[in-house]
Amino acid sequence: MSGSNNKVATIIHLNNPDDAASWCKTQRGRRKKIGFVPTMGALHDGHLSLARAAKRENDLVCVSIFVNPLQFNNPEDLENYPRDFDRDVRQLENEGCDMIFTGTLTQFFPDAHKLEEINMLEAGRYALGLEGDYRPGHFAGVVTIVERLFNTVGQCSAYFGEKDFQQCLVIRELTESINGIDIIICPTIREDSGLAMSSRNSLLSPQARERASVIYQALCTAQDAWNNGERRPHALSGTMHSILKTAGVDIEYATVRDPNRWIAFESEDSLDSARAFIAIRIDDIRLIDNMKLG
Ligand code: AMP
Repeated sequence: MSGSNNKVATIIHLNNPDDAASWCKTQRGRRKKIGFVPTMGALHDGHLSLARAAKRENDLVCVSIFVNPLQFNNPEDLENYPRDFDRDVRQLENEGCDMIFTGTLTQFFPDAHKLEEINMLEAGRYALGLEGDYRPGHFAGVVTIVERLFNTVGQCSAYFGEKDFQQCLVIRELTESINGIDIIICPTIREDSGLAMSSRNSLLSPQARERASVIYQALCTAQDAWNNGERRPHALSGTMHSILKTAGVDIEYATVRDPNRWIAFESEDSLDSARAFIAIRIDDIRLIDNMKLG
């Protein structure tokens, strides 16, 4: 192991994927069941809820912290992405996690000498639409790194948040071609206002943070409409649009999809099962959320 790896009280930080891979292999040799939580750091209660679920259901929990440049379609967004590694370590240690690993892009992709030489994986059919439309290349960047992370950790249960529901679908499809990875999807953790917790919330001014709760209000209004028998996608989307418009936020999308079929709806369709999805910008900070209807 490299000299700068260190043990911070009870949690081990391994600063390269090779060391992380040998740690995981050793633990599996000792018949330890590993729970894995991939993150980009700047941790909040949403991330910690995944770590807690992993802790309950496994012998050991490892967490990756890597701000993945491959999934940022906007260089400014990458640069401004919040980072607070020391605080992340303390929080994970408090949750009783066992190992954190980090790495550089070169360590994850040793064969590539520059970004353009990285062999990007295809993200599959769930990458089409919504985030796929508004963040071109985002899901290819996600699956390319997540595949490396899964190769590093090996057989495990991997925990993801429903907050990024489309990402869950994309990753679940990715794991159909990788052995030994169980995907566990955990509920969205929200602030008291209903705003889904997100690392990006820390970039919002207090006023913007208050306004951002309109996302949750719009999702709940679609939920109410569904519960009152509304099944027409355009009517459900229209309800969300009007709530968001009154708050004056920039709407990227506010729409519903059948999560099983994952195709854009036709205007005359009537949905049997549906999930509402919203992406907006407030003060140029991009926020997403979603909610199962019914
Ligand atoms: P990120 O660091 O944003 O890549 O997120 C790492 C993991 O945490 C992903 O699986 C996210 O879906 C999950 N996550 C982020 N925010 C929340 C939240 N509010 N509730 C539950 N899970 C979340």
